[in-house]
Amino acid sequence: MHSEAWIDEELAELLKKNLERRTQVYSEAGGKIAFMGRMFLNFSSNDYLGLARHPYVISTSRGYLEYDGCGATSSRLVTGTLSPHYVLEQRIAALKGYPEALVFGSGFLANIGVIAALAGRGDHVFADKLAHASIIDGIVLSRANLKRFHHNDPDHLKKLLGQCPLSGRKLVVTESVFSMDGDLAPLPEIAATAVESGAMIMVDEAHATGVFGPGGSGLIREHGLEGKINVSMGTLSKALGGYGGFIAGSPALRQLLVNRSRAFIYTTGLPPAVAGSALGALAVIEKAGGLGVELLRRAAIFRQRLHEGGLNTLNSKSQIVPVLIGENAKTLAVAQRLKSKGILAAAIRPPTVPEGTARLRLSITMAHTDHDLERAAAEIIAEVRRELRN
Ligand SMILES: *Cc1c(COP(=O)(O)O)cnc(C)c1O
Repeated sequence: MHSEAWIDEELAELLKKNLERRTQVYSEAGGKIAFMGRMFLNFSSNDYLGLARHPYVISTSRGYLEYDGCGATSSRLVTGTLSPHYVLEQRIAALKGYPEALVFGSGFLANIGVIAALAGRGDHVFADKLAHASIIDGIVLSRANLKRFHHNDPDHLKKLLGQCPLSGRKLVVTESVFSMDGDLAPLPEIAATAVESGAMIMVDEAHATGVFGPGGSGLIREHGLEGKINVSMGTLSKALGGYGGFIAGSPALRQLLVNRSRAFIYTTGLPPAVAGSALGALAVIEKAGGLGVELLRRAAIFRQRLHEGGLNTLNSKSQIVPVLIGENAKTLAVAQRLKSKGILAAAIRPPTVPEGTARLRLSITMAHTDHDLERAAAEIIAEVRRELRN
């Protein structure tokens, strides 16, 4: 079709720059992943606690599927709020230490839905330089002014807040665990800076929920900042192994979102089985106790092993472990050779990360045994050394 000719040109351009991406069919189970007829150790999964295939999570989900059906059949404000939504919001609020919670269709929808409801034309949103795409899209959608502060830099945030016009609302947004670097935000300092200048603050705990804090409640609770941080956002699709997003906050905040958040209002409620799988996952996390602590122990040992081999894992303090390589081509070559040895690690290149900081990004999960981690670390060290010598 002639009207689509520009699409072919755009795709050809991507291919030429080695930036073209494709979907690929995988079959995942227990830290191993199969595709193209081979098995790999999977270091790209966000199913940190191995709950996506946990028998109790599956049976809880199935119970809701059979009792409440396949779909919510309507948006949440019409007749799409069912008992699993209600119970799940109660459970999330209790876990996070906030009075109330609200579940969205996904973490992406929660971020765009909340930011666009809290800020509008003439308002000011301050986001960390490395904030997730869904946070940036929420700000663009809100039509507020976007200002980006240097990564994890409360002093720069303070400066930007100080330069801000007095008119309009102010909202600060950051993550607690960053998705590409695996480092942690200085939440007490960022929160104090926001509170000092009368700004609202929202923290995305997508990678902290289920892993950090008492009972997997996240880093806001670990630091006791529930009274300072207005919006605690998270997802059901990472450590909880399912799908959906949520926020926890005050009753007034929840009520505002119910009335104003378009990404909550104009979409169908989460399917009962999906809300049910989150309830199952929360029950497993509570009953097992200490899953996050054990995951972080394994990640620390893995990082230690990489450091002994002379590798740089940046400021990673979480289950997300980058291995800095630098050049794009070398990073791709290392990833390719690891793949030939049955180890699947993502090669992350600009523009996702700054120029000259191409890296492998590995996520450690409870499905990796100490032996898997030892083997992977040894292979990574050997491959990077080989590449850097060339
Ligand atoms: C994955 C992620 C999201 C989006 O969550 P989904 O439930 O996958 O839509 C939002 N923020 C951060 C930091 C994430 O890593």
